[in-house]
Amino acid sequence: MRTQVAIIGAGPAGLLLSHLLAQGGVESVVLETRSEEYVAARIRAGILEHSSVELLEAAGLGARIRAEGDEHRGIYLQWPGERHHLDFVDLTGRSVWVYGQTEVQKDLIAARRAGGQEIHYEVSDVALHDVELSPHVTFTGKDGATRRLDAMVIAGCDGSFGPSRSAVPSPTVHEKVYPYSWFGILADVAPSTDELIYAWHPDGFALHSMRSASVSRLYLQVPNGTDPRSWSDDRIWDELSKRLGHGQNGWKLTPGPITDKSVLPMRSYVQTPMRHGNLYLAGDAAHIVPPTGAKGLNLAIADVALLSRALIATIKDNDPRYADAYSGDAQRRVWRCTHFSWWMTTMLHTSGDPFDAELQLSQLRWVAGSRAGATGLAENYAGLPIGY
Ligand SMILES: Cc1cc2nc3c(=O)[nH]c(=O)nc-3n(C[C@H](O)[C@H](O)[C@H](O)COP(=O)(O)OP(=O)(O)OC[C@H]3O[C@@H](n4cnc5c(N)ncnc54)[C@H](O)[C@@H]3O)c2cc1C
Repeated sequence: MRTQVAIIGAGPAGLLLSHLLAQGGVESVVLETRSEEYVAARIRAGILEHSSVELLEAAGLGARIRAEGDEHRGIYLQWPGERHHLDFVDLTGRSVWVYGQTEVQKDLIAARRAGGQEIHYEVSDVALHDVELSPHVTFTGKDGATRRLDAMVIAGCDGSFGPSRSAVPSPTVHEKVYPYSWFGILADVAPSTDELIYAWHPDGFALHSMRSASVSRLYLQVPNGTDPRSWSDDRIWDELSKRLGHGQNGWKLTPGPITDKSVLPMRSYVQTPMRHGNLYLAGDAAHIVPPTGAKGLNLAIADVALLSRALIATIKDNDPRYADAYSGDAQRRVWRCTHFSWWMTTMLHTSGDPFDAELQLSQLRWVAGSRAGATGLAENYAGLPIGY
């Protein structure tokens, strides 16, 4: 098999890359270990930045976001006794959209299917070879046959567990593992809030998010290694009610049937460079952020915006400038989002240390009470322009 770009991974990064390349007249083949159904149903991120929505719209993928997504002007920031609304539109002129990663993925699958994209699902034994001179990928197809895919370029969009990141020799890796995890639930109940609530509480952080008018997504800070099966539904709702301030100024958290429970460990990871020879990394293959800043999916989209432009210029116009600049350009935004995600995480998650708690509360009061503080959060949360 032969193509111009071999894309490993059919998550948001891989499918969006194949879509943008096709629009630029560059052909690709996508390899994915999971089934199409599994990839479409994977519950993960839920917030799209302003520039992610602009990019998806420009790529013809915005119709359902506009019809079914929910535009949010900002977030609530709270701690016991206080809740403050930060209005991103007033502060920065930019909003965010609540639109689940599952829906982004479904839109991408539909668009690629309509475009006749070649995607091999349920492959195994994916291995990258000779990425410097004669790039190719070998894999075992769903039918059990061993195949070889030759390409001008390999795009590693295979997330944090795929083989692409380790095909970069001697990378520089920066990693921070946090001493807590997020216990996330999905519940079939209308959200008890119009916009997300980020809550600091002495017993740990809590977040009230949502997926639609009838589905809520909520998170609790828990110790690493927590088994979600060890928490009853009643215990989850009691803890959420306490940390989110049920009863505070008459606000009520409405519980409902829980349809999914999972525990997500939190870490920051950045691998440099994001290019080696003819191998380019994008999305979680190169970096992971804790979800507190809602940046993971948006960073994958921003990488792919830069990478598609670079590959189209190289392959169609024989112009290597964007490709040569790709790793540095992408990393500038990666580090900004890595810092913001770390900052949100360490401001809101409690460690049990009373000194740290006072610093966090002081920081929260300043962010919520000062226009300068609020604007800093808003600008980063609603997202800097692609290419920042
Ligand atoms: C459990 C979980 C919850 C999350 N929650 C949030 C959240 O609440 N908010 C937020 O902003 N972000 C969240 N994220 C992060 C966000 O979902 C990711 O940043 C985003 O999915 C990155 O997209 P990607 O395409 O780079 O990687 P992925 O979505 O991971 O896609 C990579 C693809 O590569 C495939 N693959 C792996 N190995 C191979 C191989 N050997 N060969 C071929 N294909 C392979 C995988 O099956 C997958 O489909 C979460 C992530 C996880 C894991």
